[in-house]
Amino acid sequence: MPILEKISQPLQARHWTDSIPLEYHYTAGVAGEEFRRELKENGRFLASKCAKCKNTYVPARMFCPSCFIEMKETRTLEGPGYVYSFTTVNRNRTGDAAEPVTLALVKFDGAKGGIVHRLDSSDSVTFGMKVVPVLKGPSERTGALTDIISFKPA
Ligand SMILES: [Zn+2]
Repeated sequence: MPILEKISQPLQARHWTDSIPLEYHYTAGVAGEEFRRELKENGRFLASKCAKCKNTYVPARMFCPSCFIEMKETRTLEGPGYVYSFTTVNRNRTGDAAEPVTLALVKFDGAKGGIVHRLDSSDSVTFGMKVVPVLKGPSERTGALTDIISFKPA
């Protein structure tokens, strides 16, 4: 059947089933790499600052989502974060969890965005509660978000 010939009956279309082997490597991007390097080497969160709108974003990113311009200025966040939102889950991928896990969106004063991670304080979590990260030791860090063990009340 020529390629330009119109098919009037769907069952006339040829098809086959096969698989295509794919390999890929995930990269965090330029700003993501810098964020991870700062977390690994210095245990701090890197944020990007927009020269036009003056907003600061965490985690660091290359372009301002408001102005669409490249952000070249970075800074590390000082002080504790705060619980913007949270939820407690009782199930995991395989069924019931051994213990409930509280996950929180932690934001930082003066910065947009935030970090979603475990929160060690399931009994007394409140919105706005000040929290600090609990990090792995410097020699154990790999530059991944799992370098953060959890957040805990400040
Ligand atoms: Zn901006």
